[in-house]
Amino acid sequence: MSTKFSSSELEAFLDESLPAERMAAIEDALRGDETLQKQLTALNGRRDAGVHSLGDIWRRHRLSCPSREQLGSYLLGVLSRDAADYITFHVEKIQCRYCEASIADLKSQSAAEAETTRRRQRYYQSSVGHLRKK
Ligand SMILES: [Zn+2]
Repeated sequence: MSTKFSSSELEAFLDESLPAERMAAIEDALRGDETLQKQLTALNGRRDAGVHSLGDIWRRHRLSCPSREQLGSYLLGVLSRDAADYITFHVEKIQCRYCEASIADLKSQSAAEAETTRRRQRYYQSSVGHLRKK
């Protein structure tokens, strides 16, 4: 599968100097296009000897991190399939540390909230029981 993007366009992508929709188009293509992933990685390797993997590029530039709200919706499973696919790619393939940390944080937060809800329900039930006895 050959890529639809020129080297100069990919260079601009690495510089984050493309228009937003072009950035998005390349990111989108990167998801399913290993040739393009290799092309971008090679290009970046030539510019910066220390940075070789796609994940490095992502972490370095912190490209397109989903918002915290989006990550929350992702955990709740209420995102569109496409948006969810992007986050899965972003977190599992790119292994974005920022988003991994956010997700861990959101998970522990929602676990704490669930515990509060359980406690409140118990309290409510016991107050209801108490009121009934009167
Ligand atoms: Zn991220």
